[in-house]
Amino acid sequence: MSAPVDPIALAQQLIRCPSVTPADAGAIGVLADALEGLGFTCHRISSDENGGPAIENLYARLGTEAPNFAFAGHTDVVPAGDTAAWKDDPFSGVVKDGRLHGRGAADMKGALAAMVGAISRYLEEAGQPKGSISLLITGDEEGKALNGTRSLLAWMNSNGEKVDACVLGEPTNPDTLGTTIKIGRRGSMTGRLTVRGTQGHVAYPHLADNPLPRLVKLLAALTALKLDNGTEHFDPSNLEIVSIDVGNTASNVIPASGRAVFNIRFNDTYNSKSLEALLRKTLDETGGGYELEFDLTGESFLTPPGALAAMVATATEDVTGLRPAYSTTGGTSDARFIHRHCPVVEFGLVGQSMHKIDENVAVADVTALTEIYQGVLERYFLSG
Ligand SMILES: [Zn+2]
Repeated sequence: MSAPVDPIALAQQLIRCPSVTPADAGAIGVLADALEGLGFTCHRISSDENGGPAIENLYARLGTEAPNFAFAGHTDVVPAGDTAAWKDDPFSGVVKDGRLHGRGAADMKGALAAMVGAISRYLEEAGQPKGSISLLITGDEEGKALNGTRSLLAWMNSNGEKVDACVLGEPTNPDTLGTTIKIGRRGSMTGRLTVRGTQGHVAYPHLADNPLPRLVKLLAALTALKLDNGTEHFDPSNLEIVSIDVGNTASNVIPASGRAVFNIRFNDTYNSKSLEALLRKTLDETGGGYELEFDLTGESFLTPPGALAAMVATATEDVTGLRPAYSTTGGTSDARFIHRHCPVVEFGLVGQSMHKIDENVAVADVTALTEIYQGVLERYFLSG
C-alpha cells in the first residue's frame, strides 16, 4: 500500500487542471492515477453518443464483490469569468489563510479529493472492504450533461456494473459544513409561450389583431395558478416568468406576436407530463390561441430518508457535532440520473462561493469532509 492520499494536495492538483466544461485538461487522469495507486481498476469512458463535444468520464472500482458503494461527482467546472477580477489565478489552487482557492474548490474538486483521501484512510485502517468501492466521475455536469453521468450509467449497465448505494459530493451545505444533506431535488422545466396576431397600425386596431392582451391574460392565469402546498419532503412547486419578449421598437405598430418564457421548479405532486397537462388546461380555459413548447431539465426525485441518509447524517454529526437536515432545495444535480439505479444522497462542502469569483473553501472543511466520508464507508461496510 502506498502512502495515504493527502486530500488538500490532491484538490490543488485537480484545481490546476482548467477543466472548464467540456475540457478535461487532465483532471480525470489525476483522479485515475490516485485511484490506481490505491488498487482501483479504472475505466476511462469517453462519450459523444448523445451529440455535443466528447466528454471524459471515469468509472473506478476496487473489489469485485457486492455490495458496491459508490461516490459520485464531476471534475468539470464553470468558466472563471473575468480572471482579472480574481485575487489569485483561478487555476492556481493556492492555499492562503487556511483556505483553498480556485475554480472548483467548492464545486466540487475539494469533495473529489476528500473521497479519495477518505478511501485511502479507510483502506489503511480497515483493510479491503467486504464488498466494493466505486467512483462515478463525469466531466459533463456543469454543461448540458449529455455525455456525462448518463453515458457512464449506460456503460455500467451494459458491462454488468451495479451500484448499491451512492453519495454524490455536490456542495450541499449553504454556509456551514454539517447542516444539509440532499435527499432529492425538485424537477425543472421551461415553458416557451407564443401568442400570434396580425400586425397593424395602432390607429386602425380593427384591421389588426393585437396578441399582447391575450399574452397578458394567459400569463396572469399561469401565475394565479396555485400548484400545490408542498409535500412531506418538498417545498411548494413554483412557476416564475423569466422573460416577456415582443421586440417592438415602434409605438404606433401593433406587433404580430409576443413571447414569454417561464420556468417551473416542481415537487413530487407532479411529473412533467401531468404538469404540462395542467398548464395547457389552464391556458385553454383562459381562451385564445397560443403555442407552447417545453424543455425538461429533469423530473423531481427523492430517496426517502432511510439507512443511507442516516449513515451520512451520523458520520457528519460525529465529525462536526451538527445533525444535518434533509433537504430537496436548490437546482437539479446528476443524482437525477443515479437515483434510478440505487439510493443516492448528496453531501459535500459549503457552497457559498461556488460559481463565483474567488471560489474557495476552508482547508479544515476539506479535512472534515474526508473524515465524514471515511465514517460513511466504515458504517456502510459494517452494516453490510
Ligand atoms: Zn457541482
